[in-house]
Amino acid sequence: MLVRAADGIAMEPRVSGHALLEVRDLVLQYKTWEHLVTATWNVNFDVYAGDRFVLLGPSGCGKSSILKAVGGFLAPVSGAMKLDGRLITAPGPDRLMVFQEFEQLLPWKSVRDNVTFPMRVTRRFPAREIEQRADEVIEKVGLGRFVDAFPHTLSGGMKMRVAIARALAMEPAILLMDEPFAALDALTRRRMQEELLSLWQQTAFTMLFVTHSIEEAILVGSRVLVLSPHPGRVRAEFNAHQFTLADIEAPGFAALQRRIHDMLFQKPLAEQRS
Ligand code: ADP
Ligand code: MG
Repeated sequence: MLVRAADGIAMEPRVSGHALLEVRDLVLQYKTWEHLVTATWNVNFDVYAGDRFVLLGPSGCGKSSILKAVGGFLAPVSGAMKLDGRLITAPGPDRLMVFQEFEQLLPWKSVRDNVTFPMRVTRRFPAREIEQRADEVIEKVGLGRFVDAFPHTLSGGMKMRVAIARALAMEPAILLMDEPFAALDALTRRRMQEELLSLWQQTAFTMLFVTHSIEEAILVGSRVLVLSPHPGRVRAEFNAHQFTLADIEAPGFAALQRRIHDMLFQKPLAEQRS
């Protein structure tokens, strides 16, 4: 349905049942004193449970705006978003943002206390269950030996695991990540991508991940939605689950990156603006 042919990139239609997140004809705009800024134009996509769904596009094409809209922080001008069949109209604990700096962890609290914190504040779970839930999810992300450690004693990758554990403890339907590795040096960034993929393999959460890096999109994503420059429209959607970190040096990888690059910056076909 939403799969489009894109320049020779192999695309298989999605076959499974109903989508977890459905985004339909999403138009997002900002009104400022002087003008109206159209951030996205008629964007459509479906995220299925367990997807590593990547929004890829150049800076300013509306990726963050789409995440804000899915988060419930920005109301669409037209179109709609549904999570599990329910219309998204406001923020909710079923959609949690994992922020760019994993330094969002509270430095004076242990790993366990960082993970229990949102559960205590929101009273989403009975108080007597909270510690056990935290310990279970910390174990799941591979940090069982570090429950009492403080964030500054952990590596960047471990901090990311804590930040994701803290979100997962709230049992969201989907994790939202907005260019979480953009500020990192190349080596650290690669390590974080590896960590994220291995964590996903262990816990199989659903994520909606934003990046402007073609390479990162192919590596991190199981599905990639390619958006045009401002205002963002869907250029293509393709499967990327067949690519792993081991493929980077393969000849086909660079060619694929080039094709996506051309696709990103090609002139719009007969696209209508209003
Ligand atoms: P991306 O995340 O892909 O870089 P954004 O979603 O941040 O893109 O922005 C999309 C467009 O909307 C850009 O042209 C940007 O300048 C504009 N924009 C974003 N936020 C605001 C805002 N709060 N007010 C006005 N314009 C905005
Ligand atoms: Mg952005």
